[in-house]
Amino acid sequence: MVFYSPGRTTSYPSIPPEDGIRYHYLGGGNEVGNVGCVFEDPKGTKMLLDYGLAPTDPPKYPHEAPKIKDAVITHSHIDHLGMAPWLCSNHRTTLHGTSLTAKISQMMWNDCYKVSRLEGYPLAWDKRDIDIAISSWKTHDFGEIWEKDSWKLRLEKAGHIPGAAMLNVETDTHKLLFTGDFDSRDSQLVSGAKPEKCDILFVEGTYGGKEHPSKEQTIKQFVDRIVEVTDRGGTALIPAFANGRTQDMVMTLHKYLPELDVHVDGMGKHVAKLQMEHPETLRDPGALEDAWKWCRRVSSKSDKKKALDADCIVSTSGMMDGGPSIWYLNRLRMDPRNAIMFTGYQAEGSGGRMLIDEGCIPIWNKRTPIDLEVSQFSFSTHAGHSEIINFAEKCEAETVVIYHTDPNSARPPLVKDLESRGHVVHTPINGESVIIP
Ligand SMILES: [Zn+2]
Ligand SMILES: [Zn+2]
Repeated sequence: MVFYSPGRTTSYPSIPPEDGIRYHYLGGGNEVGNVGCVFEDPKGTKMLLDYGLAPTDPPKYPHEAPKIKDAVITHSHIDHLGMAPWLCSNHRTTLHGTSLTAKISQMMWNDCYKVSRLEGYPLAWDKRDIDIAISSWKTHDFGEIWEKDSWKLRLEKAGHIPGAAMLNVETDTHKLLFTGDFDSRDSQLVSGAKPEKCDILFVEGTYGGKEHPSKEQTIKQFVDRIVEVTDRGGTALIPAFANGRTQDMVMTLHKYLPELDVHVDGMGKHVAKLQMEHPETLRDPGALEDAWKWCRRVSSKSDKKKALDADCIVSTSGMMDGGPSIWYLNRLRMDPRNAIMFTGYQAEGSGGRMLIDEGCIPIWNKRTPIDLEVSQFSFSTHAGHSEIINFAEKCEAETVVIYHTDPNSARPPLVKDLESRGHVVHTPINGESVIIP
């Protein structure tokens, strides 16, 4: 349980730094997700980057934010914006981000609220705070320069998901670049992030120490497996996150297996509609529109039943924690010709993790053995180890701050490689202030 008492329990110092730039992670410094980072100059100009929560069971929350006028939200994943309603309601903070991020945020907050009710976990904000947060957005186009006191700020494309932004800040003394969650590789949905010159690079290190297999190889294995399943008369259930992965999977299937009958269910349908309203965020807007017209969107109970005869069902939740994917699994599990194909990382404690490790999954609270073929594919849109190192090099960053990372497994190999290339590397710890001269 978080008992925030606004202005009294924050770990953030009350006076500005004497010189340089101070940064201070409220969360996400030495962990994945749960991000909140305050940065400030000696004049007292300060800003918050992201304010999320980690949707683990039970969820994790960042430290309490100080009173702050402006926050930049890099993208619409819950680990980057989950606590924004608290911020807006208690501190009347303005949220800066792209307009697609702003549009999707409402859906993410509503869903987070719903899940907290269902699972019975506490949230530091309630439904009314969502309305305040929605009216707190000030949106910016990619490339647009705006000002905060003497700072100049700009959002640039981060790859990752549509609307995701990196934040570029020019203070009186430093050029800062925060990647948010980023990927320098293209996906079906978005173009990769482009490096740019900066003094201090704050880079996410989710995949430190890990190299992604080539996209072509992953797609080939994925396509081959689907062909195997459909050739034997089965249905492939493809659990996918609503925000990014669902659309990526539908586009991949449309491109490589256009002869198949593909049905799509879950919140990803609404996200796709919003993405298509923002073609400037997409790598190939026409390709998403074509794929979307081609697939069948499930919108009723009878559509759901029809989907059980499809070749593929793409559905939320991506980690099989409730949602329509559980409804489908409960019906598909009787026929061994069917298969489950995960499209991303399955977190500790998730239904998907249990299915992979133990061959069973909770269905309506009952631990149920599943006798279907299960396979896992990595369609991650986070930069892998080499992408992170190359990106930092091309940014010519003197200092690199690695955050959004596992401090034990992912960060040490990044520190080693970045230091050997001459960068000064910082390894932030939540709740501790650091000043870069
Ligand atoms: Zn994240
Ligand atoms: Zn993300």
